Amino acid sequence: MEVLDLSLRDPFRIARHMPDRLATTVLLDVTAEGLSGVGEAFPVAYYGETAGTVRSVVPLLAAALESLGVPPGTIGEARTWLIRAAEVMDRAIGNNGAAKCGMDIALHDAVARSMDLPLHELLGTPTAVRPTDFSIGIDEPAVVAERASRMAHFPALKIKVGGPADLETLEAVRAVYGGPLRVDANTGWHPEAGLRLLPELERLGVELIEQPFRARAIAEMRWLQERSALPIVADESAVTIDDLPALVGAVAGVNVKLGKCGGVGPALRMIERARELGFKVFLGCMEETSLGIAAAAVLAGLVDWVDLDGNLLLADDPFVGLELDAQCRWRLPAAAGVGVRRVAHRHEGLFAAVDKSVDEMVDGTGSAG
Ligand SMILES: [Mg+2]
Repeated sequence: MEVLDLSLRDPFRIARHMPDRLATTVLLDVTAEGLSGVGEAFPVAYYGETAGTVRSVVPLLAAALESLGVPPGTIGEARTWLIRAAEVMDRAIGNNGAAKCGMDIALHDAVARSMDLPLHELLGTPTAVRPTDFSIGIDEPAVVAERASRMAHFPALKIKVGGPADLETLEAVRAVYGGPLRVDANTGWHPEAGLRLLPELERLGVELIEQPFRARAIAEMRWLQERSALPIVADESAVTIDDLPALVGAVAGVNVKLGKCGGVGPALRMIERARELGFKVFLGCMEETSLGIAAAAVLAGLVDWVDLDGNLLLADDPFVGLELDAQCRWRLPAAAGVGVRRVAHRHEGLFAAVDKSVDEMVDGTGSAG
């Protein structure tokens, strides 16, 4: 296992916490019986996970998976084996979606590579995918608008709200960007404030409203959805497939993320269940590298809206091999497995330089004192 602290291009603030400047993610390998795969676990403290919990939980998951043996030979048998692997992990420990996601991606990568298949071929998912939007964190309205104008080639923007100047921010973005806006309050609004904003959001061409209220405030979200022409999408309220039934009739859509529900297999089944229950589906992410984003991208042909931009927020993505086309759709890699490649220590020199300058500063202070 390897814990990476990756710099973000811009500070990323959402309603639930102060700006992030680093994204901490965990890479893990599985190797057994000729199988070899790599996965990514992006822990989010809101869901009770840290790099430390991932480090503790992954060995438990690996031990539980020992009972499964190696995957059998056909595509159908391999898919069944991967579903059973996810079930084994769920029985071994509750929650810990990111840790399970890391293992699940690594297993999918390993199985697909052993069969010399790209992941989307193993899963049978469509290569025609929807374009991704680009997310912009909470900041001064002029700063958000400047970032929006830089990213105006994206067919939709996701604007984080729940800060002190939401309406001003959206007005400033609308002045520089003509496409659809998706707003995500990350639990940050109070019901009355959300209701007051509704006509303004419609006027400004907002396409959907994500998680306006607290995760458990499902009755309040239902109350707002009944008054809103715009779809309300549950994210923090829709962690795993088990959360879906309680949301029926309360919200129009759900945001499915590999890191919440336990990986690419559980996300695929959550999308299918959400469809059966009549939800619109948003496919989202954390600030994963291209590894985690490529694993999610194989599902981007199955959903209504795609927000797979975590790797684009990173200043130094350690993987290559995942590219956007001119319409901002991910091209699913043709290589076997997840299909991305690690860049060998690209940022080591930079970190060394930063450490040196800090040392010099400390030395300077010391000699002055
Ligand atoms: Mg969200």
